[in-house]
Amino acid sequence: MNEPPAAPPSLDDWALPELEAAPMPAPPSIPVCEPSIEEAEIQAVVECLKSGWISTVSPLVAEFEARFAERVGVDYAVATCSGTAALHVALLVAGIEPGDEVLVPDLTFIAPVNAIRFVGAYPVFIDVDPVYWQMDPEAVADFLTNDCLMRKGVLRNRTTGRRITAVLPVDILGHPVDLEPILTAAGQVGIPVIEDAAESLGAKYRNRPVGRLADATCYSFNGNKVITTGGGGMFTTNNSFWAERARYLTTQAREPGDEFVHGEMGFNYRLTGLQAALGMAQLRRLSAHVRAKRAIAEAYREAFAEIDGIYFQAAADWAYHARWLSAAWIEPGIYGMDRRALARYLATLGIETRPLWQPMHRSPAHRKLKPRECPQSQVLYDSVLCLPSSVGMQPDQQDRVIDAIRDIVAPPSIQGAP
Ligand SMILES: *Cc1c(COP(=O)(O)O)cnc(C)c1O
Repeated sequence: MNEPPAAPPSLDDWALPELEAAPMPAPPSIPVCEPSIEEAEIQAVVECLKSGWISTVSPLVAEFEARFAERVGVDYAVATCSGTAALHVALLVAGIEPGDEVLVPDLTFIAPVNAIRFVGAYPVFIDVDPVYWQMDPEAVADFLTNDCLMRKGVLRNRTTGRRITAVLPVDILGHPVDLEPILTAAGQVGIPVIEDAAESLGAKYRNRPVGRLADATCYSFNGNKVITTGGGGMFTTNNSFWAERARYLTTQAREPGDEFVHGEMGFNYRLTGLQAALGMAQLRRLSAHVRAKRAIAEAYREAFAEIDGIYFQAAADWAYHARWLSAAWIEPGIYGMDRRALARYLATLGIETRPLWQPMHRSPAHRKLKPRECPQSQVLYDSVLCLPSSVGMQPDQQDRVIDAIRDIVAPPSIQGAP
């Protein structure tokens, strides 16, 4: 007699042993910039989870877009899975092609430069101004006038012969770039301006929220930005054709209708409903976040006014600075140590800081392009330190940061000496 076949192993046999929860690393006692999540955010996400509308087709995504557009004062907003994705799509809808060149500041987080490379174009690094640390509008106008040549209606770089097809200014640290002269210079040669406002949501340029003036604007909702969705971004424009095309390209270029027909190669770049739920709760607190960050900046500015060798980032009188990160220039010859030494010292006290970004013309990621020198951005990189700037930072925590920075120049033991 045959033995009955052995019973197949139950599915449970394949179940993995219970995973031990990875220990959460202890955060620094004063982080440089942590998100501010309140009960409203938790509720919004829980409700979204319960509704089942968690994916990119969630109606919450369209609602978040509508509210964001209203808040900034633009006609169209398209939510994306990251700020980098928004920049990539902005360059695509602006028609930037392989072999083109796009002007971008040398001092920036790398995302806009990578986005330029994603479309096969090349960055032209423009130096920043020494006062507000933003892309220098005079350098933009100078480059377009003296380093380029208009031939048969096409603007070309005199040195490389490549077409110049856009300007991509970035609002560094939450201070708006001086956009009007850049728009004028770009307008004279007929190329669009795409603003990277990833760090400046809530800022104003000449009394208007950033995002209203450029041909397109990109934002980020990364965890450390002014408001967050964990990760995410937004593309805004007043151009209905660009908005429609951005929506199309971010949804795999799927044609309308029930069938899966894709008109061209697109991207899976949409924000999810879960993130949109979080985003809407955060958007309601945007003004409060910016006010909190500006109060932090003001306290640093007042404290450092009395310390030699520390200079706080200035704000133009035409700017309402969002103060995403409070940043100070450390002059080692006067203050007594450079920004790297200060950062190491503060770290021993549990105070987290961060430098600016390595200038793009020095970045191993883009060095092959034989970029132009940008001395001002190099000096800023060597001198500037970003200080704790979280929305939820308490006054006593900020006092600890200020005292630590002050005590180095005036140690308590010396203060008491005759
Ligand atoms: C954060 C940031 C971005 C976008 O970052 P994501 O992480 O992709 O959302 C783009 N540009 C600048 C200047 C940024 O600071």
